[in-house]
Amino acid sequence: MQDLKEKAVLVTGAASGIGRATAVEFAREGADPLILSDINPKGLEETAALVERLGCRTVILPADVSDYDAVKEMASVALDQAGRVDILVNVAGTAIISPLELMTMEEWKKVVGVDLFGALHTVHCLYPHMLERGSGHIVNIASVAGLLALHPYNAPYYLSKFGTVGFTEALMLEASAHGIGVTCICPGGVKTPIYDDSPFKGFDEEVREKVKKLMLASAEEPEDTARAIVDAVKKNRYLVVTTPVARAGYFIRRHFSLAWFPLMRAVSRRFVDGLEKYRVR
Ligand code: NAD
Repeated sequence: MQDLKEKAVLVTGAASGIGRATAVEFAREGADPLILSDINPKGLEETAALVERLGCRTVILPADVSDYDAVKEMASVALDQAGRVDILVNVAGTAIISPLELMTMEEWKKVVGVDLFGALHTVHCLYPHMLERGSGHIVNIASVAGLLALHPYNAPYYLSKFGTVGFTEALMLEASAHGIGVTCICPGGVKTPIYDDSPFKGFDEEVREKVKKLMLASAEEPEDTARAIVDAVKKNRYLVVTTPVARAGYFIRRHFSLAWFPLMRAVSRRFVDGLEKYRVR
């Protein structure tokens, strides 16, 4: 899909961070209309204003991606109002940082519901529409955390993102036979509000700043991620890992797997020991 002019693009998680930057980047490429969805209506209005300033029409559809019925309704209104969805970009995401043993089942389900089932729900509702038309492109934003586990206390996120990578690969195998493009984006660190908004559990709040500093040391801007997304759609690339550090980690994990796990065990041990004094019991 080299020419994005007048393509109808639906972006979830469009109220902030990567989702907002992605909507703006598609609008810059001449996509029209931009269908913007999120649970945050105020953020959606702000994104819509940025997109409309570029001369692109918007359809604002607040929805919780973890709620299948809400997504079904949102997809149906999107098709009614825009007439079609050419490109679906699943960006909505969340995280909870906590030692595994403190996490409640509701917290596991919350993260998996948004980060994994959120993408499944929109695909379930819109992939048949793309099949009928024999064209389209689906982008799922996983993470480098879907290719390797980097640090302790983020288990529901790894569960969801490894699942998203597997789901997206399975989708790609089937969809490509029908002329539908599929892309899995695995960003490294990206400077977005997710590090401030995600709940922290079991630690003093000052740990948030330490983890944030660690994660953002090699981070890119959301606009960089957005450009990688648009570029991947234009070139029909399947797997895109952004940031040099994330690419290096993925390379080492694949090619030196015998060394990777002992190394990560040692690094994690230091991480766990270093945070021990901040544990709240
Ligand atoms: P962000 O917090 O800026 O944006 C996430 C958006 O998702 C927010 O607008 C939020 O309102 C929305 N959202 C949360 N729960 C939702 C729900 N139930 N239904 C609909 N929308 C919901 O964070 P971001 O960094 O832009 O994250 C976007 C995606 O990128 C996520 O999937 C995240 O896992 C992934 N990612 C982020 C990074 C990073 O370092 N920031 C790295 C790799 C992958």
